[in-house]
Formats: sequence, C-alpha cells, structure tokens
Amino acid sequence: MSYTGPDFDPPHPRRSPLRRPLTVAVAALVPGALLGWGVYAAVGGPDDGGGDSGRAAGVRTSAAASSDAPGSPGRDARKPAGPSPAPTSEKPSASASKSAPAAGSGTLKGKVVVIDPGHNPANFRHASEINRKVNVGTHWKECDTTGTATDAGWPEAKFTLDVAHRLRTLLEAQGATVKLTQDGNRPYGPCVDERARIGNEAKADAAISIHADGSGAGNRGFHVILPGQVHDGPADTRAIVAPSAELGERVAGGFVRVTGTAPANYLGDGTGLVTRTDLGGLNLSTVPKVFIECGNMRDGKDAALLTSGSWRQKAAQGMSEGIVSFLRG
Ligand SMILES: [Zn+2]
Repeated sequence: MSYTGPDFDPPHPRRSPLRRPLTVAVAALVPGALLGWGVYAAVGGPDDGGGDSGRAAGVRTSAAASSDAPGSPGRDARKPAGPSPAPTSEKPSASASKSAPAAGSGTLKGKVVVIDPGHNPANFRHASEINRKVNVGTHWKECDTTGTATDAGWPEAKFTLDVAHRLRTLLEAQGATVKLTQDGNRPYGPCVDERARIGNEAKADAAISIHADGSGAGNRGFHVILPGQVHDGPADTRAIVAPSAELGERVAGGFVRVTGTAPANYLGDGTGLVTRTDLGGLNLSTVPKVFIECGNMRDGKDAALLTSGSWRQKAAQGMSEGIVSFLRG
C-alpha cells in the first residue's frame, strides 16, 4: 500500500477523460478481458452519492491494517477456509508469457526505466527512521511505511520486490537499462523523496512504483495511480502529468490484457486509474511516473493471485507491455 500515515488524504477518483482512452485501448487489445472489465465497471464502479465516504473509509481501513501484525484477526469473515497459498517462487522468465513481444529485440536500447519496489522488507525494524518526515511538496510525510501483508502474513514488500525482479528481466530483454530504487539491500527505505530522486537522477524515460493494497476484504482488483498537478515547494509535476497519464493508461491496459484481472471495484470508478496529489514518490518526480496497486492483499481471492508466482509473472508482463508501448511511442 502506498497511503499510510496520519496526513493521508483519500484519493480523488473522478470521471476523467482517461476512461475513454483506457476503454479504447483495452477494447483494441483484448475483447475477452474487456467483458470482465466492463462488468466490473458496471457493477463495481462506485458512481453513487455515498461513494466518497465509503471509499475513504475503506482506504482508511487499509491504512490502519498496515500497522497490524501480519495475520492479525478481524477479517475472518472473508478469509479463505485454509491458509493462504504459500507464495510460489518461480524464477522470473522473459519467455514465460505467450504474449511477450519480440523478446530480446533490443528496441528499448538507450531507454532507462526505474522500478521502485514499494516499501522494504526490513522497514518494520526501523520505525524511527521510516517515521521521519520528508517534504513532499503538498505536506510533510513519513519517509516510508511498512506496507501491508496478506492475512497469512506475507508482506507487501516481498511481493513488490519479486514483481520488480520479474519486470526488470522482461525490460532488460527488450534492451532497456533498468534501475531499482532498492533491491532488498538496504536496512530500510529509501524514503519516498529519495525514491523519486533516483528516477530523476537516472533521467528515466519511465518510472513505476510497484505496490499491493491493504483494503477491506471484498475490495478487489488493481489500479494505477497517476500524478495530479502539484506546484508547491520541492514538487512540480506540471511537466509530467500528461506523459504519466499516457504511461499509466498503457500500463493499465497491458495489465488487464495479460492478467485478465479487473480494475479495482472500490475506487477509480472502474477505470483502474486514480489521480492523486499526496504521494511523495509522484509529487517529487520530474520523469513520467506511475504507481500500480496490483491487487488487495487483504482480500482472500486477490491474495491467492498475489501469492501465485505465475500470476506475478503475468502482472510483470502486463506492466512491461504497457511500458514498452509507452516508450516506443
Ligand atoms: Zn504499498
């Protein structure tokens, strides 16, 4: 998850003009997946008067959940009958997906992609360090957070790192230069401002921050978070709002197509796209950047996907295809 902390602002889902491009992109790519996507959009799109407070409450629940001990009680009603499947550990493979585009063609030679695996598996041991506040333009915010976990205790930080490795393999096979903001090789963090700075200093052509959400059971699906316009303090997103939206639409389209997973049914109006101005990792970026919340770790059905190595490979493939599409223009 990406939005813990006392200064959390609920996301601002809106019926954006992005809905049409995503629909078109998805329709062009995969009519089969679109059917499921459309059903979700129709029945799960929270286009109702009470939606905002409901969504905010749901997300606040998720924020609270991140500080729970993994496997904490309280969500048993939606828990699967048995323990969550043990995370599988297949190695990332550039050829695992039948939909891989011309792997190894080198078409991304000269392109730089920064992958930001959200959180850090060791953050929980460094509470004082990660609670230090950093300036994200709109406000001051925790350096980093621990992230969420499945009910069985598998941490988001391990999920994000695994998917990052798979995505790196896929993008490097396309010839891209890939840099990770952390590779499980730091005691904690990095802080969100440094995560942004790493992408900036690498002059990344695209950057993506990988997460999984910690919302209430029953809330399912993925969403891509786009930077809103912020021009305040050290933050100035004006130049990246448009290209980031383009990147995000393509990542969302690729993700739907390859995973067959529907956009979130609890925010984003069923578009799979949410624009936010409270995330330091986006506010402080000067390169096109998006976040992706791949699913909800606190929902049993989503957790079954997130803990599956084969599903994570598809997730990485979907992201890769979106990024490749964006970089090829
Ligand atoms: Zn996260």
